[in-house]
Amino acid sequence: MIKTEHLCKSYGDLTVLKDISTEIQKGEIISIIGPSGTGKSTFLRCLNLLEKPSGGSIYIDNNNLLEKTTDVPKMRQKMGMVFQSFNLYAHLSVLANLTIGPVKLLGQSKTDPNRKALELLKLVGLAEKANNFPDELSGGQKQRVAIARCLAMEPEVILFDEPTSALDPTMVSEVLAVIRRLAKGGMTMLVVTHEMEFARNISTRVFYMDEGIIYEEGTPEQIFENPQKEKTQAFINRVRSFHYHINSPNYDLYAMNAEIEGFCEKHLLSKRVCGNVLLLVEETLLLQADFTNISLSLAYSEKTGHLEFLFSAAGVPVNPLEEGVQDDDIGLRLIQSRCESSQYQYENGKNILLFKVKGE
Ligand code: ADP
Ligand code: MG
Repeated sequence: MIKTEHLCKSYGDLTVLKDISTEIQKGEIISIIGPSGTGKSTFLRCLNLLEKPSGGSIYIDNNNLLEKTTDVPKMRQKMGMVFQSFNLYAHLSVLANLTIGPVKLLGQSKTDPNRKALELLKLVGLAEKANNFPDELSGGQKQRVAIARCLAMEPEVILFDEPTSALDPTMVSEVLAVIRRLAKGGMTMLVVTHEMEFARNISTRVFYMDEGIIYEEGTPEQIFENPQKEKTQAFINRVRSFHYHINSPNYDLYAMNAEIEGFCEKHLLSKRVCGNVLLLVEETLLLQADFTNISLSLAYSEKTGHLEFLFSAAGVPVNPLEEGVQDDDIGLRLIQSRCESSQYQYENGKNILLFKVKGE
């Protein structure tokens, strides 16, 4: 359905895409991952000619997009695009945002697009908001409208460029759920995303982009479980981490907890795992006498799916999990119930505890 041959793109001296040759079949769901600045957006923008490629060719249904005789607007209509920043028309109602394209560009009469627009709004859960304006919606709702607007043009492929990156963490899942639904319906999609769990669950293939090329591609299992090349391995196995520092017993527990929850949401950790880590943190802090220099770190490995909690407190050597604690100590039992394992060591004047947080 889409084929590129030696596609390249430079901005002045900067070569962003070196040589991209790939083929995408109808119904495929391709996740594109990789460090920022590696040309993921540029690739999508070249595909629907928002950027003019510097060389190579792009075929959509065997039509060469870069040939002069090709009807570019018609080809472009086959490809919808959803952006990080929604790009809705602020002065138009939700419904009018959906109908303006079909009426102006596809030449449809008003009644038909209105009916279809309502159906699409229903599909994304927003029929109720048809007469609202974009600034009356949350970020997640705006993005769902943007997806419905894209569908109104009846695309054959949808290109998503980090559709959840601009959203509050609490709104990511509603947008991902809509994309998942489209995937189930057989829509061909290319999704640039940093949501690794999502990429892993939804994709038929994953492209890892780096060095101006599709550096490695494969099934989600191949890329996430067993990447072959060095840079892919480094990217996939990198540990996502969170740090928090406390230097007084009057630390702000609520602010700290909110940051931990944000971290958990960002990595799509379940409520249960998040609850476990919050409790581990709180109970471990309750066992402390010295708050002059405490640091907390959470490290989540995309690869193993494990969350580790590293606690360090400066002071005289004392293992808070053993010393002065009786068998019936509730705090200690709570800690033990929320972690799979714990290790203690004393190093450089610090008591260090490493917990493996219990998963599902
Ligand atoms: P990604 O989406 O992977 O983060 P982009 O495709 O946005 O990467 O950008 C790749 C590189 O191209 C970056 O170094 C960026 O600064 C550069 N770039 C993107 N668009 C332009 C532009 N219009 N003019 C000049 N440089 C650009
Ligand atoms: Mg980008």
